[in-house]
Amino acid sequence: MMVCTMHGKERVMQPLIEKHLHLPSELVANFNTDAFGTFTGEIERAHDPVTTLRMKIKKALEHAGATLGIGNEGSFGPHPQIPFVPADQEIAMMIDLINNLEIVATVTSTNTNFAHAEITSEEELDSFARQVHFPTHGLILKQTNEGKVSYLEKGIANWDRLHEVYNQFKRMEGTVAAETDMRAHMNPTRMQVISEATEQLIKNILSVCPSCHWPGFGPSEVTRGLPCGWCGAPTQRIRAVTSRCKHCDHEEEKAMNETKADPQYCDQCNP
Ligand SMILES: [Zn+2]
Ligand SMILES: [Zn+2]
Repeated sequence: MMVCTMHGKERVMQPLIEKHLHLPSELVANFNTDAFGTFTGEIERAHDPVTTLRMKIKKALEHAGATLGIGNEGSFGPHPQIPFVPADQEIAMMIDLINNLEIVATVTSTNTNFAHAEITSEEELDSFARQVHFPTHGLILKQTNEGKVSYLEKGIANWDRLHEVYNQFKRMEGTVAAETDMRAHMNPTRMQVISEATEQLIKNILSVCPSCHWPGFGPSEVTRGLPCGWCGAPTQRIRAVTSRCKHCDHEEEKAMNETKADPQYCDQCNP
């Protein structure tokens, strides 16, 4: 199993693969995934995270002359269900080119220090830095003039360097902003979420089709229409989830635990 990552993610991914899948694993050597986009914005990510990750793994496998690989891609921003709360979404994926297999796991966690702020004084800088767990977590400083980033330093991991770069940027025309460095080796909190996503991926791989034992058997679609508890009309609430085998098309439908929907979700009772 090739580990198609950079920034030290193999430190959490490799032991999990070896322990649970009993497969030897190896890091793809001399491979730079930054060409597919970076968090620091020097190179924009051109596709959605799943597509980007698929491309990265395939490219790394080609580079290594291998057919089985695993990788990770993270995204940071407001939580999809809880606005104003920052979240770290980590996707882990395994690709097996020989068996035409792609298995994915996604973990969305609010356990993140993801933040950015415009900084106008050393006091503000120090308070921001402490808030985002600097220096165990790295920082990025950006010098911006008329909407364009003129200078950027990433991977700042000690107070002396932080102040030195800040004072250098402050002397220039424009504004200075600080942001968390989300690259895995600079961010132990993110590394923890990557570990959770890898564990979920392993669970998904080990979940096999009851009919043909193909890996990756799990919920793939939902059926809505849970009946309203008052009038019995179908609602938009989920009634059942279906798992379908990508290999033999074996299908299993599992009903949700609740059998009636709260009338607040009913178009008839609560229009
Ligand atoms: Zn099957
Ligand atoms: Zn109703």
